[in-house]
Amino acid sequence: MRVLVLGGTTEARALYGLLEHARARFDATVSLAGVTRAPVLPRLAVRIGGFGGVDGLYDWLLAHRIDAVIDATHPFAVRMGANAVQACTRAGIALLRVERPGWTPVEGDHWIRVVDMQAAAHALGSTPRRVLLTVGRKDLLPFHHADVHDWLLRSVDRPDASLLPPGARVLQARGPFDVAAEEALLRDERIDVIVTKNSGGTATYAKLAAARALGLPVIMVDRPPVAAAPTVADAAGAMAWLERLYAHDSSTRREV
Ligand code: NAP
Repeated sequence: MRVLVLGGTTEARALYGLLEHARARFDATVSLAGVTRAPVLPRLAVRIGGFGGVDGLYDWLLAHRIDAVIDATHPFAVRMGANAVQACTRAGIALLRVERPGWTPVEGDHWIRVVDMQAAAHALGSTPRRVLLTVGRKDLLPFHHADVHDWLLRSVDRPDASLLPPGARVLQARGPFDVAAEEALLRDERIDVIVTKNSGGTATYAKLAAARALGLPVIMVDRPPVAAAPTVADAAGAMAWLERLYAHDSSTRREV
């Protein structure tokens, strides 16, 4: 069975591992957007870069005779998810989305929930604050106008200087992070508030536990709505779905 995995997440990486061990049944290609400079590459076929919208993805799926698509992109990667729904529907190809559950506040958390980055910038207010920004590089523009604040941006890659809010410092780091190190960072940098998006998962949760321990507020950007598709929460769920599809496909072929 020929499978396309739209990747770029921890769940996708876990799925690559499972697919590497199931080569006898699944011929998988992983697709990455090409936004991370040194991505973690699987031992599977890899293609890098956009497809060229819905039409480009549709053509690619047909040209490579893909039987199933797993959309394991990030909960905030809404464009790719929507394109996958449209292209797979048009091509009649089975599609599954892997989406990790979002974080929910627990006792002691002080979250200010907002709908988007614009609202996050607004929620910071006009009193100067030391802000830890853990958002992607394409999310930075709304913070350019909130120029009274002191920014520490944490990011896997260093964004172009033109994308950074005025005076922002960059801390290049890739998760997973642990709570003790996160507490030390917040203390050493005298951070007043964290701005993050509700990515979910364990790799970057430690900052929230550290903020709770230090009594710091977190401006939490809620997840955007995603295009509807059958969804599982993790790589094991995606693999089980693929195995069911494979079993069904094999029995249909035997009957024919
Ligand atoms: P997006 O806004 O949904 O997608 C923008 C465009 O990038 C898509 O239309 C598509 O181009 C291309 N693209 C996205 N994911 C792709 C993939 N896996 N393979 C090939 N092309 C892809 O996505 P994004 O938010 O920029 O995220 C880009 C990548 O970074 C995704 O793989 C995502 O899983 C990962 N990521 C995103 C975030 C986040 O917060 N957004 C965080 C961590 C990781 P075409 O229309 O030309 O096909």
